[in-house]
Amino acid sequence: MSAVLIVEDEQHLADGLRFNLEAEGYTVETVSTGEAALALLLDERRHFDVVVLDVMLPGKDGFTVAAELRQAGQFVPVLMLTARGRPEDVLRGFESGADDYLTKPFELAVLLARINGLLRRRDWFHLDRANAVALHNRAPDAASARPADNKGADAEHELFTFAGKTIDFGALELRTGDQVVRLTLMEAELLRHLIRHEGRVVSRKSLLEEVWDLREDTDTRAIDNFIVRLRKYIEAEPANPKHLLTVRGVGYRFIAG
Ligand code: CA
Repeated sequence: MSAVLIVEDEQHLADGLRFNLEAEGYTVETVSTGEAALALLLDERRHFDVVVLDVMLPGKDGFTVAAELRQAGQFVPVLMLTARGRPEDVLRGFESGADDYLTKPFELAVLLARINGLLRRRDWFHLDRANAVALHNRAPDAASARPADNKGADAEHELFTFAGKTIDFGALELRTGDQVVRLTLMEAELLRHLIRHEGRVVSRKSLLEEVWDLREDTDTRAIDNFIVRLRKYIEAEPANPKHLLTVRGVGYRFIAG
């Protein structure tokens, strides 16, 4: 049984979601503030499989909550609820570490599908709690030590190596020597998209449509913030990139070597 935390200050909406999710077999807890959500999610005695996080909250908003979770090494899948017609909120949500989004108002069936999608993706990435904690706590010099029962999973991991770095799309990690950087699902998917089109120009529009599934007219410059972050991960000199190049007026191009 999967545990869902709902962070929503509109009580009737929180109650309705709880009722319907419980009817689907989920264990549900609701909180109405970002502060309460952070307290629960950073409590190591508590476990949640997915978080439904409203952006508009009193006190700390959803963006801040997601960012503080990721900074604290908490990588629970986050489905963010954003205001309709604000694509910039969606990108800001991903920047802050959300894994998926839904615009309000939404159909219950769509919410359930998105939650199931995040749970499946999490399973696919083998990120159960034990693994996630083990990865997070792993000492750099033990980087190769994995439980033997994970061997099968390792074989399925999709690895990409370039310039002394390895991206493990299965474990959502970027490894450089002994250094391990955790990636959010969205960071990994953006990198995967650029790498798949290695050597070719990828437009901002195609990134929006194919990675974020955004079809509206969005301020595509918002993507640039994401690229800046990825450059910090993969470039020796982020201000003078060798792999993740800007193609002026169009988009980006990934070069491996
Ligand atoms: Ca709200």
